[in-house]
Amino acid sequence: MAKYVYFFGGGAAEGTAEMKHILGGKGANLAEMTNLGITVPPGFTISTEVCKYYYEHDRTYPGALQQEIDENLAKLENEMGKKFGDQNDPLLVSVRSGAAASMPGMMDTVLNLGLNDKAVLGLAAKAGNERFAWDAYRRLVNMFGDVVLGVPHEEFEHAMDKIKKQRKVKLDTELTTEDLKKLVEDYKAVIKSKAKRDFPQNPREQLHYAIDAVFGSWETPRARRYRELNRIRGLLGTAVNVQTMVFGNMGESSGTGVCFTRDPSTGENYFYGEFLINAQGEDVVAGIRTPEPLQDLKTLMPAIYDELESYRQKLERHYKDMQDVEFTIQEGRLFILQTRTGKRTAAAAVKIAVDMEKDGLIDEKAAVRRIDPYQMEQLLHDRFDPKAKKEKLTTGLPASPGAAKGKVVFTADDAEAAVEKDPGAEVILVRIETSPEDIGGMHAAQGILTARGGMTSHAAVVGRGMGKTCVVGCSNVEIDYKAKKFKVGNKVVKQGDWISLDGSLGEVYVGKVPTIPFEVSGNLDIILQWADKYRKLKVRTNADTPVDAKTALKFKAEGIGLCRTEHMFFAEDRIYWVRRMILAADDKERRDSLKKLLPMQRKDFVGIFTAMNGLPVTIRMLDPPLHEFLPHDDKTQKEMAATMGINVKEIKAKVESMSELNPMLGLRGCRLGITWPEITDMQARAIMEAAVACSKKGIKVFPEIMVPLIGTAAEMKFLKERIEGVVQEVLSKAGMKIDYLIGTMIEIPRAALTADEIAEIAQFFSFGTNDLTQMGFGYSRDDVGTFLPGYISKGILPDDPFQRLDQAGIGQLVQIGIEKGRKTRPGIKVGISGEHGGDPDSVEFCHRVGMNYVSCSPFRVPVARLAAAQAALKQSK
Ligand code: PEP
Ligand code: MG
Repeated sequence: MAKYVYFFGGGAAEGTAEMKHILGGKGANLAEMTNLGITVPPGFTISTEVCKYYYEHDRTYPGALQQEIDENLAKLENEMGKKFGDQNDPLLVSVRSGAAASMPGMMDTVLNLGLNDKAVLGLAAKAGNERFAWDAYRRLVNMFGDVVLGVPHEEFEHAMDKIKKQRKVKLDTELTTEDLKKLVEDYKAVIKSKAKRDFPQNPREQLHYAIDAVFGSWETPRARRYRELNRIRGLLGTAVNVQTMVFGNMGESSGTGVCFTRDPSTGENYFYGEFLINAQGEDVVAGIRTPEPLQDLKTLMPAIYDELESYRQKLERHYKDMQDVEFTIQEGRLFILQTRTGKRTAAAAVKIAVDMEKDGLIDEKAAVRRIDPYQMEQLLHDRFDPKAKKEKLTTGLPASPGAAKGKVVFTADDAEAAVEKDPGAEVILVRIETSPEDIGGMHAAQGILTARGGMTSHAAVVGRGMGKTCVVGCSNVEIDYKAKKFKVGNKVVKQGDWISLDGSLGEVYVGKVPTIPFEVSGNLDIILQWADKYRKLKVRTNADTPVDAKTALKFKAEGIGLCRTEHMFFAEDRIYWVRRMILAADDKERRDSLKKLLPMQRKDFVGIFTAMNGLPVTIRMLDPPLHEFLPHDDKTQKEMAATMGINVKEIKAKVESMSELNPMLGLRGCRLGITWPEITDMQARAIMEAAVACSKKGIKVFPEIMVPLIGTAAEMKFLKERIEGVVQEVLSKAGMKIDYLIGTMIEIPRAALTADEIAEIAQFFSFGTNDLTQMGFGYSRDDVGTFLPGYISKGILPDDPFQRLDQAGIGQLVQIGIEKGRKTRPGIKVGISGEHGGDPDSVEFCHRVGMNYVSCSPFRVPVARLAAAQAALKQSK
C-alpha cells in the first residue's frame, strides 16, 4: 500500500535526507536531523505525492490519507504526552509547506493550530502566562484567516492598528492581555465579514483546512512565477509538515533566530545569524523588529550558544555544505526547526567551495560542481569606480553585494513596466519592505532598497538568490508611496531620480555613480583553474575589436570564435565608404570604395591578430542586414549625394530599390559575397595581408576565414574558390606559408541537413544558433518581442529560445549537422558562436554532442569555462 505520511521524533525518523523528492527539502532535513540526534520538535510530513494526487484528482485526496494522518497524530500525542484539541493542556502544531527546491516566502505557513476559545484558557493556565496564550491565539486566527481563508492581510492589520490607536501604543508587545482578547474577537469578526464563515473551533477541522491551504498554495500565481524565474521544474509538488509548536515568545528565557553556518554574503567561515528574545520566528523573517547579531547570544545565553555552535559543526560535517538553520529557544531549551542548504551570494559560493576543499570536506570536482554557473554571472559584474565622487545619502545593511544604479520606482509594477517599455532601463525598487508579490519587480530592477528588515528579511534573501544588489533596513529612509518620493533627513528623492546602491557596503548614493568592470581573481580564479582541468570543450570568444579580444584574454579565452566584420564597418571613418560601396553605380565605383576600405580592414585584423598572438581567430565575411548601412534620413542622403556628385533623387531611388521587406532573410551573408564578390576579395586580402604582416613580426597567426549564411554547397564552393584565389595570391607574393582554414557557419536549416555536402568544401563549422533558431522556429529575430514574452508566461515555451538553445528542436539540427559533417570530413572542427555559447545549459548540450569549442561574449567566458567543466564531470559520473 502506498505510504503518504512519514513520522519524525523520539530520536528516530521514517525519512532521510535522500528523500527530498517526496518529503520536500524541509521534511527530509527534519527527518535527517532527528536521526542525527539533533533536538527537533517532533511531527510528521505528508508527502509530495499527495500534492500530485491532489492536482490530478480535482483537488481531492487519496482515500487512505486521513487514516494515516490520524495514526501519526496519535503517535505525536503519545510522544508529547499531550492531546490535540485538549482543553487543559493542548498539543499545538504548525503546518508548513516544503517542496524539494527551496522557495523562500512563496508557500504559506500556519502556526498554533489546536487553539480555540477553550484551549486558550488551558494553555494560559498551563504556561502560567495569560498574555502569551492570547497572543498565540490571535496569531492563529490571523494566519488562519489570511492563509487558509484568503482574507487580505491588511484587514487584520487595520484591526490591530485600531486597537493600538485606542490604547495609544506603538508596538504589538505593548498590548495587554485584555487588548489581545479584544483583538481575537475583532479578528474573528473580520473573518466572519470577509470570508462569510466562522473561525473553526474544532482543531481537526483547523488542521484539515490548513493542510488543504498548503497544497492549494502550490499553484498560486506567485508560486508559479517563482518557479518560472528560478527554472524549478519536474517537482511533484509541495509536502506538508505538521510539527509540534515550540515557542520563542514565552518570556526572557525564550527567543528565536536564524543562523548560517558561514557568512552567506562573503562566505567567511564565521557563525553568522540573528535572533530576537521573546519573539516568534515570523518576527525575524518579516523584518518587523530589527534582530540582534548572533554573536550577542554568546553573552546572553552562553550554554545555548555553545549547543548551537556544536550543531553548526555537526550539520556542516554531515551535509558538507553551508547550512541555513532556524532555531527557537523555549524557556531555556534549544530546538532546531529546520536546516537547509543556505542561499549565498556568488562570491560566498566560490569562497565556501574553495575553503571546504582546503579543509578536506569536499574535493576539487565537488567544488567545481557546486558553483551555479548562472549565479556566477553575478560575479562578473561591475563595481563602483573607487575614484568616483560619491555623495552618500544613507547606510543600511549590505544584504546582497554588487553595484547598481537606476531611477527610483516605488512599486514592483512600475519596475516591470519600465523594463517592458525599454529593456535597457535601469531602475531601483525602493520599498518599506518587500513581499512575495514583488518578485517580478525585484527581478526587473537593478537593485532593491528597503527601509525595514534585517539580513534575513524577504528582500535580503530573495535579492541574494537573484543576484540583485540589495540594501535593506535603511531606517532613516521615510517613504511616501502616495507622493512617490522618499526623504532622508532634509533630502528628498523623487520617482525617476537616479540613485546608486553598493550592496557590499550597504551604502546608498545620490545620482549615477560610474562603475568599472570586475576582474577574475582569488578564489574565482582557483575554481576556474580547477574547471579547466576537467573540461573538454575549448572556450573562445566573440570579439570584433582588439579591446574585446584583450578583455576575453584576461578571462582566458582560447581564441576568437567569431569576429563580426560588419561591426567594423560602422566606424565613423569608414561608414561613408561602406555606403558608397553599396550605392555604387558600377563595379568600378565599388572597387574604388573597397580600395579605401582595404587598409582600414587590414589594420583592424593586425590589431586582432596581435592581441590573440598564438591563438586561432575566426573572421567572418561581411554579414549585414543591409538596411542598417543605407542612408535613410534626408540629411545623410543629401550629404551622400553631394560627395558622390549625384542627384539626391538617385540616392533615394537606390535606397528605395534596395529596401527589403524582411532584411533578416534578405541580401545577407554569402548572398552579398556572391552578388558582389569584390567585397569578399577585399576582406580575404585584408585578412591575409594582415596575417603576413603579423607573421613577419613574429606574431603567430591562425586565421580561419568564415563564410556566413550558407544554405547550399554550391554557394560555399563559389566563395571558397574566390577566397582561395586571393589567399594564394597574397601568400605567393609574400613568399610565405601560413596555415589557414576556410569554413562556414551552419545557421540555415538546409545547411544543417546537407552538412555532408557542405563539409566536402568547408574546413570547419561554426553553428550560428541565433539564425538557426530564427529560421528553425520561423521567428524573426527582430520581431519576437511582440509575442515571445506571452509565450513564456503562458508556458507555450519554457524559455526564450534565443537565450537557451531549444535542444529538442534546434538541437536536432545541430546534431544532424555535426554527424553529417563528420561523415564526409572526419574530425572537422566544430564550434558554436550564437548567444547560446555562453549559456550554461546550452554549453552542456554542446559538450554532449561533441563540439570542439564554444564561443561567447568576453564576460561570459568564465561562465562557459565552468559550465563546460560541469558538463564533463556530469558525463563522467
Ligand atoms: C548566429 O546567427 O548565431 C550568429 C552568430 O550570427 P549573427 O548573430 O551575427 O547573425
Ligand atoms: Mg547569423
